[in-house]
Amino acid sequence: GQALEIRAEMINALVKKHAPMCMRQLGQTLEERKHLKHQGRLQFGLFLKELGLGVEQALLFWRRSFANITDDKFNKEYKYNVRYNYGLEGKRVDYPARSCARIIMQDTPGPQDTHGCPFRHYSPANLASTLSTTYGLGQAQSSEILATVKSGHYHVACTRLFEMTHGVARGKGLDGKGESVAHPNRYFERSWKLQQS
Ligand code: SF4
Repeated sequence: GQALEIRAEMINALVKKHAPMCMRQLGQTLEERKHLKHQGRLQFGLFLKELGLGVEQALLFWRRSFANITDDKFNKEYKYNVRYNYGLEGKRVDYPARSCARIIMQDTPGPQDTHGCPFRHYSPANLASTLSTTYGLGQAQSSEILATVKSGHYHVACTRLFEMTHGVARGKGLDGKGESVAHPNRYFERSWKLQQS
């Protein structure tokens, strides 16, 4: 379901504040490179749609984000994809946002890609550096996350990062009752809700 009504200009700040690492990294790449590759656009675009971003605002967001290309190129090469995500082109399927299982198991990112799940797909060094620079985690917290990842518990690592960065006690999870991260949109919604309470 839709968590809130968002406009294009709100996205970057909302993503930084409330999105899980996979989406935050895509948002950051888009800001830095003014571009995202196909799978990244799908993963991030469907996430934003499920947050409540309508197609007109989505077109505005992607157009502004791809700041280094002309309107003509945008309209020819990217507009269709944005509308496709909303079921307005091609097969006309209103695609759902990808779950963690989908992101972790399918469309494994190559070396130049930034989609996927950082807990599953980043090297330990890259993950450690993201935890310290983007999230400001100290040594002990960072080591705990890395050990969890090493044992293959990606969802647990993501849930622990949520707890650490939202002042939530260990084991309380997304909802205060131990809910583990299984979908990026649930992560966002819980984070956003905590801010309201
Ligand atoms: Fe994203 Fe899910 Fe990975 Fe967390 S566990 S970073 S929400 S794919």
